[in-house]
Amino acid sequence: SPTLRHPEEWSRSFSHFISQCLIKDFEARPSVTHLLEHPFIKQAHGKDIALRQQLAALIQEQHLVSLTSYRHVRINTRKTLIIESCPDDDLVNLEFLDEETIISHLHKRYDELQVYTYVGDILIALNPFQNLSIYSPQFSKLYHGVKRADNPPHIFATADAAYQGMVTFCKDQCIIISGESGAGKTESAHLIVQHLTFLGKANNRTLREKILQVNPLVEAFGNACTAINDNSSRFGKYLEMKFTSTGAVIGAKISEYLLEKSRVIKQAPGEENFHIFYYIYAGLYHQDELKTYSLPDGTPPRFVIQHCKVMQDIVSRKQYKEQFDAIQECFRNIGFTEEEVDSVYKILSAILNTGNIEFASITSQHQTDKSEVPNSEALENAASLLSIGPEELQEALTSQCVVTRGETIIRTNTVDKAADVRDAMSKALYGRLFSWIVNRINSLLQPDMNSGMNVGILDIFGFENFQKNSFEQLCINIANEQIQFYFNQHIFALEQMEYQSEEVDASLVEYEDNRPILDMFLQKPMGLLSLLDEESRFPQATDQTLVDKFEDNLRCKYFWIPKRVELCFGIQHYAGQVMYNVNGFLEKNRDTLPADIVVYSLMDLLSKMVVGQPHFVRCIKPNDDRQALLFCKERVMVQLRYTGILETVNIRRQGYSHRILFEDFVNRYYYLAFRAHEMPETSKENAVAILERAKLKDWVLGKTKVFLKYYHVEQLNLLLREV
Ligand code: ATP
Ligand code: MG
Repeated sequence: SPTLRHPEEWSRSFSHFISQCLIKDFEARPSVTHLLEHPFIKQAHGKDIALRQQLAALIQEQHLVSLTSYRHVRINTRKTLIIESCPDDDLVNLEFLDEETIISHLHKRYDELQVYTYVGDILIALNPFQNLSIYSPQFSKLYHGVKRADNPPHIFATADAAYQGMVTFCKDQCIIISGESGAGKTESAHLIVQHLTFLGKANNRTLREKILQVNPLVEAFGNACTAINDNSSRFGKYLEMKFTSTGAVIGAKISEYLLEKSRVIKQAPGEENFHIFYYIYAGLYHQDELKTYSLPDGTPPRFVIQHCKVMQDIVSRKQYKEQFDAIQECFRNIGFTEEEVDSVYKILSAILNTGNIEFASITSQHQTDKSEVPNSEALENAASLLSIGPEELQEALTSQCVVTRGETIIRTNTVDKAADVRDAMSKALYGRLFSWIVNRINSLLQPDMNSGMNVGILDIFGFENFQKNSFEQLCINIANEQIQFYFNQHIFALEQMEYQSEEVDASLVEYEDNRPILDMFLQKPMGLLSLLDEESRFPQATDQTLVDKFEDNLRCKYFWIPKRVELCFGIQHYAGQVMYNVNGFLEKNRDTLPADIVVYSLMDLLSKMVVGQPHFVRCIKPNDDRQALLFCKERVMVQLRYTGILETVNIRRQGYSHRILFEDFVNRYYYLAFRAHEMPETSKENAVAILERAKLKDWVLGKTKVFLKYYHVEQLNLLLREV
């Protein structure tokens, strides 16, 4: 325990103390004597028995009844306990709503290790860059079906709200987690799954474990160390947790989007390949099984060599081996058979061997552009792992069939072309393997019943802007534009529309609409993606013709060609300006699904989400150094601005987040004003009678709906429970 002599210093760390020490130490409600002897209290207040007693009694009284107590307790310089209200839990409650105030509140809270803050029903999550002990089962209990204001803001509260929403309204829910790379989306998604499995009464331990292991397994294949984040998600993920109508968890389903396959063959300086390649290599080495999978034991395979120059780099890393064991465990628990796991390892090893295949040109009198594989070991290994003949594989790599006017012609590949085919094959193999694993997980976690409801959790790569941005960044950033559009739609446009149609007064809130940028990308046939697809179909197209095509056809303020930089174009995204280098765009677009189809699959995802009631978690990265307790104002400011938090604060403050049809409202809450047998008419008047009986204030009536603020619904539900 820290030595804290000065009361103010002590007071600053009070919240830290409660979360770090007390929760860990006392499972149940602690006794006063017990508390008095607690080392932290003893140390902090030494001989001042009276103060210690006062404090212990207070904690005892409040502890686990309502942990909010710690937010209200301060000790002033005269060493007296003061209880303060804490309005800055929710930015909507702030009196002044300028950027400066919001930032300084977030800053103050971050210093006190309060990383979560509400903006109405949206959660802002600042990355703590350190482990906080606020995610234990005790905390899950604390955030189970209580009023939101009873506890400090928390990611569990958001999961709880989605769960309660699903059970109460019998409606699918979705939680959309956004933020830039390294902001904490994936961690947040894990915590939500953890809390939902708790709430979903997953008594069936096996099912609970299976669901909890889906994320680590998929992430071993889809995440990698990048310049920004050691565990960066290189694919978009939508995890749906399935529940019965009474809220018991029964299964899960995962959808993946836009895996960054090019990472298999090449990584930017300082970055790594997908985690699994290192895990499997180290794991098989330690199990003495490299030979079984025909992997080289001298120099590491080329696809991992950029990061691990010598064998020792891979095999001496303890965590790689541990992760390999953990992944084996995940496979087993989720229900993959031994044969299936063996096939997965074989394909991974085949990819690593494929990467080692080299080509040399054969120059004879008649042919100069033919290639062959001079050292056949890697080729033979890859072929045998894939259960094909080595000649077949060599032929596939060094020649191609072209069908012209009904005739089949075999053309030979140059060395460069053969290397391209090899890389394309490695990427395709990895992409298919990834999809197969995801599909297999889905069939293993499929619930026995078809009915039921779900909570979906979207964790999709954040907005990216590097020194050099390529096709992958473009796809990622378009996806983020779409999410932002959805957020705007939900928060602003739909809100305004509903106010208007219900004739409820709402002063219009201005917001940055990103629809025109999306149109520029997606319109047919003249949108950027259609133009790219079109150009990819011309065999003679080059990077230059692509840039020319863009320049000729895209005329809007969001797109420009810089003067002095070659083969580049700039885009004004909602989150800032990004310069893209078209080098390799055509090849990558041909190689993946056409961009158009990809954006379809994303549309499909969005249409799924629109059906559910959305909950938003906005992750914010307080600094670029991954340091705990370092709050960089400018960085936070930029993220708040482009995520629309400011406008959100405004509209949420005035807004009514719950609008319920009079009929539904009366049906749901009539117990509060009528007797069970009275069967009141589901009219506007009776809705008002209920609202008045419940003594609620500040609600508004529309033409067909009651407009309620989020705290009204909490009060009503609490009253219902008491009836
Ligand atoms: P990307 O877009 O690159 O996938 P991300 O938003 O998913 O990024 P995460 O991988 O979730 O980012 O978080 C990055 C790192 O920040 C984590 O590896 C972890 O070290 C730290 N971190 C994030 N959230 C928390 C948290 N709640 N508690 C402790 N550490 C956290
Ligand atoms: Mg992530």
